Amino acid sequence: MSVKITTKEQAQKFLDQYDDFLFDCDGVLWQGNHLLPHVPETLQLLRDNGKRLIFVTNNSTKSRQAYTKKFEKFGIKVNKEEIFGSAYSAAVYLQKVVKFPKDKKVLVVGETGLEEELTEAGIPWLGATDAAYNRVADDEALSSIVRDKSIGAVLCGLDFHINYYKIANALIQLQDPETLFLATNIDSTYPSHGKLLPGAGTIVGTLETSSGRKPVALGKPSQAMMDCIKAQFEFDPSKACMVGDRLNTDMRFGEEGGLGTLFVLSGVDTEESIKKEDAVAKPKYYADKLGDLYELLKN
Ligand code: PLP
Ligand code: CA
Repeated sequence: MSVKITTKEQAQKFLDQYDDFLFDCDGVLWQGNHLLPHVPETLQLLRDNGKRLIFVTNNSTKSRQAYTKKFEKFGIKVNKEEIFGSAYSAAVYLQKVVKFPKDKKVLVVGETGLEEELTEAGIPWLGATDAAYNRVADDEALSSIVRDKSIGAVLCGLDFHINYYKIANALIQLQDPETLFLATNIDSTYPSHGKLLPGAGTIVGTLETSSGRKPVALGKPSQAMMDCIKAQFEFDPSKACMVGDRLNTDMRFGEEGGLGTLFVLSGVDTEESIKKEDAVAKPKYYADKLGDLYELLKN
């Protein structure tokens, strides 16, 4: 049974258990362009209590650098090093886990977030927003696609410029089993402009269907992302808590990583979802919103 945090004593007991807090962003800190109540105060309260904060997002379209601007816009103090996005996770995975060969390149299906993180990690890449890889799929363009042996991986995230030529090019590279297949995340949807829009998983799914291959996913709930975070921050999972608004990504991510979990009702999933017999995760704690911690503990 998940415990709902509604009293000062419960909030204090919750806080005392953990040294590190991993936060999902959208649905926990903000909803689209709208900051949720008492978020900066809650984060400051945690900092004042010596807690370490790590912000974990599946949004691959922005680099950590670009994400700091989003935090600043909302008046939230943050260091780039505290942010762990799925674009950065992909760069860390390539660099530290697979030790991607220096003479190989990554074909990117995605946005500037991936371009920036790969460039910063010194990993050569092709594709993404480069116009040469965003061609109309006419006969000439399709007949020009060949297997490029210098491409060692296809990395797919959400791509606002997705087109048939790009999918075809990625598929030709994936038909070689030596090409790694990586996905920043496999979210079916994400909340934006007050609705659910197609997530990175819809584009990854196109490549899965055509290639018959499964990617290594580097966003929540994949433990490959948790391994990358643990490698960077070296925390004790039993003294860390994952805070999120989605059961199938955030709460599963925390649970499978051996962390405590706090589910908030300010995002996608509802109170009913945790009460279902077949819920994909059973959060340890839940609250209406993150700011409740501040409201309960401020005096
Ligand atoms: N992917 C994209 C493109 C998004 O914009 C978002 C949320 O803004 C997400 C994924 C989900 O992000 P999070 O893991 O922060 O909820
Ligand atoms: Ca979220």
